[in-house]
Amino acid sequence: MHQLTVAQIAQGLREKHFSSVEITQHYLDRIAAKDDSIRAYITVCPERALAQAAAADARLAAGNAGALTGVPIAHKDIFCTKGVKTTCASKMLDNFIAPYDATVVENLDRAGTVMLGKTNMDEFAMGSSNETSFYGTPRNPWDQERVAGGSSGGSAAAVAAQLAPIASGTDTGGSIRQPASLCGLSGIKPTYGRVSRWGMIAFASSLDQGGVIARNAEDAALMLQDMASHDAKDSTNSGQPIDDFGATLNDSLQGKRIGIPKQYFGAGLDTETGNAVQAALEQYRAMGAELIEIDLPHTELAVPAYYVIAPAEASANLSRFDGVRYGHRCDNPTDLMDLYMRSRAEGFGDEVKRRIMVGAYALSAGYYDAYFRKAQQVRRLISQDFQQAFADVDFIAGPTCPQPAFKLGEKTSDPVAMYLEDIYTIPVSLAGLPAMSIPCGTSHGLPVGLQLIGRHFDETGVLQLAHQYQRATDWHTRTPAGLE
Ligand code: GLN
Repeated sequence: MHQLTVAQIAQGLREKHFSSVEITQHYLDRIAAKDDSIRAYITVCPERALAQAAAADARLAAGNAGALTGVPIAHKDIFCTKGVKTTCASKMLDNFIAPYDATVVENLDRAGTVMLGKTNMDEFAMGSSNETSFYGTPRNPWDQERVAGGSSGGSAAAVAAQLAPIASGTDTGGSIRQPASLCGLSGIKPTYGRVSRWGMIAFASSLDQGGVIARNAEDAALMLQDMASHDAKDSTNSGQPIDDFGATLNDSLQGKRIGIPKQYFGAGLDTETGNAVQAALEQYRAMGAELIEIDLPHTELAVPAYYVIAPAEASANLSRFDGVRYGHRCDNPTDLMDLYMRSRAEGFGDEVKRRIMVGAYALSAGYYDAYFRKAQQVRRLISQDFQQAFADVDFIAGPTCPQPAFKLGEKTSDPVAMYLEDIYTIPVSLAGLPAMSIPCGTSHGLPVGLQLIGRHFDETGVLQLAHQYQRATDWHTRTPAGLE
């Protein structure tokens, strides 16, 4: 049953080949048998899941089910879930039970999905390997000596190991696309503002965006449909109409213009990764698309600008964790200042502290103009690069990551090497564009991701581009050995 895609599960439920309780139990059993080694989940919710599944079966029987009613899913542990521990993979929130649901969770609950549990991630979503988690590092199901990527590494590991058919993720600078790439999955980061951030624990508010990690584009479209909503509780949530994201999946790509940024194929790109991506682009040409070289001249400034902006916003967002209102509190504080300082010193890990320090520095009175304002100006230039490119092309495509999954521990001592993992995903985040990673080949036997970028709010087009490729190829149907 765990080989089925979400679309197939939904069909099987409607045609009564199995019940939601049956498939939910099947996944819970698989998690119990295999997640000790994969570590995709921080929390598994058997009772809650089975109760949701029974309710879904009742809806299916009564004939008032939606497209995803009864389908098991997993949520990244960054989304608040009422009555279920929400940790953001931090010791700071190890004891936190959210009093309310994130809008994303509420939307998917309403749709009738069944939450199997909460997935592992980098602490407060800061990282590219999931090694900053307080709960241990998920393994890449393709090679358990390697990382699954981050920060949504648990969601990717869960879907790749078939411990969930699909999962939510969040992406600030690459955290959906990069783990999807490293685990051979299809991950979509929608346009900034498409999915509500309410109840999604904030890292960098001008960049954070919820999305989906799936086995293929069709499944991703189904889940995004129920995830996206208009939400007055998130002031940056867009009022754009919620499109039918799957509407054009089957439409031809004849005449579509795909821009290929020359800056995405330079030094630092692993040869086999580059070859796999080039072959995928040729496939698009064979399907009738036109490939056009484009220039995104400010690409190399994206990582430095991001590592000013994201930490600056994080330093402000994380000030709420003070040991007073919720989260970790130190023992026997001597006074208020001691309470703040020790609670935060004990509750946060090293990478989170590094970001808070960098961010507070960049925002400080003497350095604001030199760093934060400058980074915002660079961000504007990067957005303009994309705007100019999209005057000529419908989509942009290139690699998602410079190389396939790396070994556990390989980059932990070199933060800059880790930061460069997101060199192709960060520019897109700074511009707020929708983008997706889909599997397109292998390098050294490991999955390679192709990044597909669309105009603002053209998730429908991006999903079409992905689905057309998946109709012509079978990379998305491969699964890691030993986890059958
Ligand atoms: N790896 C990037 C970072 O560490 C992006 C993380 C994310 O998208 N949440 O900030």
